[in-house]
Amino acid sequence: MSKLIYRFNNKELKNNINSKDILGGKGANLALMAKLKLPVPPGFTISTKVCEYFYKNNKKISNKVIQQTKEEIKIIEKITKKKFGDLYNPLLISVRSGSRVSMPGMMDTILNLGLNDKTVIALRKITSNGRFAKDSYRRFIQMYGNVVLGIESHFFEELIENYKLTKGVIQDTELEEDDWDGLIQNFKDLIKEKAKKNFPQDVYEQLWGAIHAVLLSWNSKRAKTYRKINYIPDHWGTAVNVQAMVFGNMGNDCATGVAFTRNPSTGKKEIFGEYLINAQGEDVVAGTRTPENLLKMNKSMPKIFKELNFFFSKLEKKYKDMQDIEFTVENNKLWMLQTRSGKRTAKAAIKIAVDMVKEKLISIKEAILRIDPNILDTLLHPTLDEKAEKEVIASGLPASPGAASGKVTFSAEEAEKLKEQLQDAILVRIETSPEDINGMHAAKGILTARGGMTSHAAVVARGMGKPCVSGSSEIKIDYEKKEFKSGEYIIKEGQIITIDGGSGKIMLGKVPTVKPDISGDFSKVMVWADQIRKLKVRTNSETPADTKIARDFGAEGIGLCRTEHMFFNEKRIVSVRQMILSKTLEDRRLALKKILPYQKNDFFEIFKIMSGLPVTVRLLDPPLHEFLPKTDKDIADVAKELNMSNSDIKSRIVELHEQNPMLGHRGCRLGISFPEIYKMQCTAIFEALVECKRKNIKSVIPEIMIPLVSTTSEIQILKNLVDKTATEIQKKHSLKIKYYVGTMIELPRAAIRAKDIAKYADFFSFGTNDLTQTTFGISRDDSGKFLNDYVDNKIFNKDPFISIDERGVGELIRIATERGRLEKKALKLGICGEHGGDPASIEFCENAKLNYVSCSPYRVPIARLAAAQAYLKKKN
Ligand code: ADP
Ligand code: MG
Ligand code: MG
Repeated sequence: MSKLIYRFNNKELKNNINSKDILGGKGANLALMAKLKLPVPPGFTISTKVCEYFYKNNKKISNKVIQQTKEEIKIIEKITKKKFGDLYNPLLISVRSGSRVSMPGMMDTILNLGLNDKTVIALRKITSNGRFAKDSYRRFIQMYGNVVLGIESHFFEELIENYKLTKGVIQDTELEEDDWDGLIQNFKDLIKEKAKKNFPQDVYEQLWGAIHAVLLSWNSKRAKTYRKINYIPDHWGTAVNVQAMVFGNMGNDCATGVAFTRNPSTGKKEIFGEYLINAQGEDVVAGTRTPENLLKMNKSMPKIFKELNFFFSKLEKKYKDMQDIEFTVENNKLWMLQTRSGKRTAKAAIKIAVDMVKEKLISIKEAILRIDPNILDTLLHPTLDEKAEKEVIASGLPASPGAASGKVTFSAEEAEKLKEQLQDAILVRIETSPEDINGMHAAKGILTARGGMTSHAAVVARGMGKPCVSGSSEIKIDYEKKEFKSGEYIIKEGQIITIDGGSGKIMLGKVPTVKPDISGDFSKVMVWADQIRKLKVRTNSETPADTKIARDFGAEGIGLCRTEHMFFNEKRIVSVRQMILSKTLEDRRLALKKILPYQKNDFFEIFKIMSGLPVTVRLLDPPLHEFLPKTDKDIADVAKELNMSNSDIKSRIVELHEQNPMLGHRGCRLGISFPEIYKMQCTAIFEALVECKRKNIKSVIPEIMIPLVSTTSEIQILKNLVDKTATEIQKKHSLKIKYYVGTMIELPRAAIRAKDIAKYADFFSFGTNDLTQTTFGISRDDSGKFLNDYVDNKIFNKDPFISIDERGVGELIRIATERGRLEKKALKLGICGEHGGDPASIEFCENAKLNYVSCSPYRVPIARLAAAQAYLKKKN
């Protein structure tokens, strides 16, 4: 059986990645700090293995764990010269959760454990500080009551508030020892009433209760939600850290604080943090007292400040990353309580990576691997237009950058509801707590009245890449009335506001935004990524505007130009409907003739922007029902064009109705029934090329893609049509045109028959949206109804429409790749569809040896970075 418990300064575990699996992040980092000889209160870690056994063993802590824990407590006793439960010099401990990756605030921690009616008297004597001792005791009872016995904390808070009211004081700090004595009794009574048992006086009973509760917190609702959102596996489990307590609340030579070794918002190399004199750790993060800027410590505690700085650089050098640190000062002695890689904004992530390369702390490869591609998203989207008029109603701390507008909502549930209705919400809370996590996820931005730059709201928002303004003390929130006031302003629920997490400003209404700046460090990272990656990155685009954005973002061509999207235009739609509804070839030809010049011009514009690069044009693959006229006016318009009666049109619509349009008369099936449509499209493509040549624009190489092929004959027939059209146009203009013909692989049969199909195709593009749909037999439009149940029941790890299902859909891609290349070695292979912009799927594409991915314009930089990472990971 493997070892269950590790002392912080253990010799067995070298600090490698595995140690995190066993010790959890917090435990591994405490161990590393101890080994670096930083001052860490002594303690040990109960490994994640124990969590695993715990859940297998009816949620019981085994005797072995109990035995070993007792032995380790003895070691702490020896080092601290204190004794657990002692009546003269009692040892107090903290019991802290900690999984492999940080899940801020998601799981539980219990402080001051070991206090009871007797040890509190001893603590009082030793510290000669009765108020401190009683305050610590009541905190412990409160935490224990909440975490172990499940009594909601507001019951305790209410007791304190009521007491303060009767006494006529405002601050907790105004309460004295006697006051706390009374409250301690009230707390105990509350526990008796709610939990139907006495608050335990036996310190070991306290300890087992705490360990049990921490292990249970792994499966709390909020922890599960957090894991689901962040794709953290349920089986990882949490470790439990047991550690001697140190006190930041014993007087004015005590303090507690949190710090980042670099600015987590901007990435600037500067100390960034907050601290509170005479306070315990939870006071800083809870946002109940507004903390001081850490730089002020240089004046108030210069010696400690210097020491902290020294440790910061030591830790940065060791971890080669920006650290997020928790510390406590007890009677002028500094103790380090936690270090971990700090959460940061996208902007900071990039700046820190680039700076650390400059500082020679990390290599370019490390820098590339370090940046989570998904967070780039926040940089690529618009920020507030500086020139726009703004009516600022309040301001707060710039806790997480970016601008967001939306309807004011005061509860997490409301924010979720708005999201379901596809509306933007700004979640406005006095302060947030882990219960709000779903609502924070649903909201576009977060605004709090209380709490600093390291409050729960700030940390979580930065992690999610959401704009956040925290600690705006100007706003007064009234949950009952569903409104907040700021000076003269009264903002009601549902009213639209804009927050700017970069400046901390809160504005009335929706403020316009501008395009992002992607020069500087960002472009440096992109250049590095481009030098490393092998996969090409193209874009899915069918409008000149999108094509321009994509090319600016570094797209190396178009991987999917969906021609049906070009038909939606208001001016053209009548002709398109005319084409669809016409009963005769004659009528259809007439309609196509009207559409041709539009299409030709569309292609010309796009070819011009993508000059010199490949452009894959997919021939018409319309979901017919989307084009059919619905209103009476639309019907009348088409009727006029076609010289038919309204009722004729209506019956024609009924004729065209399909039970299952996804599997209906679409894609190449349309080309087979009505070759004239595809012929018109090819003519438009080739004529656009001729036009480019005439205007001396460096030509693109069009790749004409035939959709929804499942048999060899389909592609054979349609390729013939393309070639014939090309020959005609070449003859007409006495010009040579270069083009390719290929197909989309989006049906399982096509993947299986790839070898035959490749005879007639120069390229395959995997249409993974449809391929996922047809492989699972799940319609994407309807899957919303049950996908969540599938994810909850672990049938799907992730939504297969977001990240490629490697074992099924991926296998088909591998089969098609192999068989296709067997026939044609130079077969070009790519993927289009949503998966082309998903980092996990991009990694799959690299491993499956595809040539390119194609994604939406705004995801192009994400894909460039993800492709570089995929290559580096493959090599390692
Ligand atoms: P979280 O993972 O939620 O940050 P922690 O285990 O870090 O939870 O505990 C929360 C806070 O409790 C810490 O920031 C620290 O201030 C305080 N704390 C934890 N252990 C100790 C200890 N041994 N001595 C003093 N304070 C502690
Ligand atoms: Mg912590
Ligand atoms: Mg398709």
